[in-house]
Amino acid sequence: MSHEPGAVLKPLVKLGRDPADCWTWLANVDVGGVASKQFGGKRMPARRWMWAQLFGPIPDGLVVTTACGSKTCVNPHHLRACTQADACRASVNTSLLPADVIDIKRAKKDAGPNTARVLADKHGCSPQTIRDIWKRRSWSRAKPNYGPRKNPTGSPAPVAAANPPP
Ligand SMILES: [Zn+2]
Repeated sequence: MSHEPGAVLKPLVKLGRDPADCWTWLANVDVGGVASKQFGGKRMPARRWMWAQLFGPIPDGLVVTTACGSKTCVNPHHLRACTQADACRASVNTSLLPADVIDIKRAKKDAGPNTARVLADKHGCSPQTIRDIWKRRSWSRAKPNYGPRKNPTGSPAPVAAANPPP
């Protein structure tokens, strides 16, 4: 294998056109639809592997989640290491992209008893998040949210608001 920059990742991920796009994992996906990687004889979520490759060992007790909500995304800018409790809380506001929210809102009109759960599985968030969106408790204005918000006044957000909220 060559050691050109990017050569190692190339067979593993499909990069988007825009740097802010998801990096879709092309290798194995586990039964839950989460991208996974064989590493050191063990299977681990690919996003954990990616995080550890880039940032070092994951501190004990932390989980790695994706801010975009995709189970197969390993874009480091979309990855967050946080506690399980934070991950659950964060899913209320941070794990969905505008297109997801539009999809969820659209599904509301013919929602059945299981729709919230099905959508939650599809988008990697909790059923409560889906119901919150329907009731407009969260995401009444869908807007993108990338990466950790360390610098609120800093660089402009990546362009993604192709579908402004109604
Ligand atoms: Zn992503």
